[in-house]
Amino acid sequence: MVGQAVSAGVDRMIAVGVDLEHSQRAVALAKEFPEVFAGVGHYPTDTPEPDIEALRRLASDERVVAIGEVGLDFVDAKQARFEKLLALAVELDLPVSIHNRGAADEVAAAIKAHPGLRGSMHYFALEWDWAERFLDLGFYLSFAGLVTRPSRNALREVVKHCPGDRLLLETDSPYGQAHIRMGVPNRPAYLLDTATLVAELRGITLEELADIERANAFALFRKMT
Ligand SMILES: [Zn+2]
Repeated sequence: MVGQAVSAGVDRMIAVGVDLEHSQRAVALAKEFPEVFAGVGHYPTDTPEPDIEALRRLASDERVVAIGEVGLDFVDAKQARFEKLLALAVELDLPVSIHNRGAADEVAAAIKAHPGLRGSMHYFALEWDWAERFLDLGFYLSFAGLVTRPSRNALREVVKHCPGDRLLLETDSPYGQAHIRMGVPNRPAYLLDTATLVAELRGITLEELADIERANAFALFRKMT
């Protein structure tokens, strides 16, 4: 899968963890492949409480470039763990990759409560007024295959207007399929489907978009360089 991605021109990837075990696997992948970096995180939904100590130890690895995936999935009484993970990101000076579903107000408030926190809104799917709020908080917006789906006009408007220095792309594989890949597991190589449309929407070439993406990823996920 990594080879296929590299052949397609995707030569830097972040594998994110959704709990301690998957974070360990992400770090192991990052050690095996120079193109892969790791995120250490804990998903907001039905999982036990995170072992912050173990995550802290794992996050000190040189291949770990982010605390993620972390977030809120509706307001599901997981706010306390989210706060702990944001505090860990500030402590370790790592960016966060934030999952938000139905809890944008609470996520914005939590970001504000952690001065110095930086990161990206993963799988950004909201309209422009929300985009502006997260941009004002200094966050990057990360867009996935959702933007290619015909019904997502409002999201395509956000992609057009997002400042070039805050725009990130991701696959969220094996989820987050682009419209033409529905029904098959997503893969990092398929980032090109999203990138092709985003370049077209912004009126730039794919190469220009790739330069922007590389610069933004290196600026946010500093240890990737
Ligand atoms: Zn997510």
